[in-house]
Amino acid sequence: MCDVCREAVVNPICPSCITTEIEAWLVLYPNLNRELMPRLERFLEKIKHKTDATKCIQCKNKRAAVCPYCFTSHVLDNLKELKSNNVIMTEFFEFFNFDLHHTGYTKEAERLGLI
Ligand SMILES: [Zn+2]
Ligand SMILES: [Zn+2]
Repeated sequence: MCDVCREAVVNPICPSCITTEIEAWLVLYPNLNRELMPRLERFLEKIKHKTDATKCIQCKNKRAAVCPYCFTSHVLDNLKELKSNNVIMTEFFEFFNFDLHHTGYTKEAERLGLI
């Protein structure tokens, strides 16, 4: 069960694995990388000790305490706070859109013309 939305974690890729992928993407944007990563690491630290987490399909560790949607939504909030430009936001949606049912942040992104 996801710690944020309280729904079953379908497609359980843990926040650590997603963070690794975000870090790989941000090689292109070193300034953003430097600002965003400490924020994500703080978040990971907070959920690290959850013992009832779902097993991640990528790393096989029991670390999927927060679902990919809630985690990427958190990342998105941080990108907004850091005033990331539209190119970055669009790329983020291209690579990390876990809003599989188009009921969450996809709507906002569409409204803003990002996707
Ligand atoms: Zn969730
Ligand atoms: Zn993982």
